[in-house]
Amino acid sequence: MWKWLRNRQRKLRSQKPLPHFLSRLIKRPDLSTWLTDAARVKLINHARNMVAEKNWEGLSGLVVTEEMKWKIALQASRLTLGFDDSPFDSIQSILIYPSTYVAPQQTKLGHIVVESSSLRLGEAWKRGPIVLAWEDIQREWEGHEPFHNVVIHEFSHVLDMANGDADGMPVIENPALARNWISLIPQQFAQLVQRLHSGHSDIINSYGATNLAEFFAVSTEAFFSSPRLFNIWHPELAQLYQQYFGHTFYSTSWPLHPQYSMINPSQFTASQTSDYLSSHRYLNHERYLVG
Ligand SMILES: [Zn+2]
Repeated sequence: MWKWLRNRQRKLRSQKPLPHFLSRLIKRPDLSTWLTDAARVKLINHARNMVAEKNWEGLSGLVVTEEMKWKIALQASRLTLGFDDSPFDSIQSILIYPSTYVAPQQTKLGHIVVESSSLRLGEAWKRGPIVLAWEDIQREWEGHEPFHNVVIHEFSHVLDMANGDADGMPVIENPALARNWISLIPQQFAQLVQRLHSGHSDIINSYGATNLAEFFAVSTEAFFSSPRLFNIWHPELAQLYQQYFGHTFYSTSWPLHPQYSMINPSQFTASQTSDYLSSHRYLNHERYLVG
């Protein structure tokens, strides 16, 4: 009954006019030229439902505008194109801080629980809210943080947690794809850990070496932020993610992050790319301290 009502509301909503600012937001290549026309319609519909159905709440005095909601919903909906029903329907609330925030943290050391606090850009809770920091979302939206996208990061955790704890293994219905996932993800995770231990950088931020859940979230950020460069670094993983997220939704060849359109990194060798990334030291900073 509830699903029937929701679908009816969605159908009615799909006939209403879209907000005037959407034509401006959708100009980003990852939301326009990278996608087929059909995929773009699906993306906008998923985003519109998210904007309308979630409880959006600004924290620490932040006023959440419609445009802010759309910016978040459009990015999160890039993860949902390969699904018939939005995997984010279960999320009730999206809470937004103005900027990086301090959250209490508990760490277990044997039988002792240590209380502390940590700086966060965002967090995702199983059957709970998504928490985000607006300043970082806006900076990433403007292209100042290549390979990073806190919205995609946190919503990746939601995909991951749909079948239990966050372990880097989301629900995968295709058995062959699931088998590939089980063998490839731990292997690529181990390679990243090894690579970072030996002093090299990677397009996947070092926070991805924390555990399999963070590996999935951080590598998904890089995959969606700069798919062509990601493909150079991690072709097997790129293929796996294309299958999982639905590669038929992309228009032609894999796109390039606008940040790098002038230097054409698709022609870089892996070692040249490594040198280039090394010059961007912030890539290796621990951005995601927790979350
Ligand atoms: Zn995380």
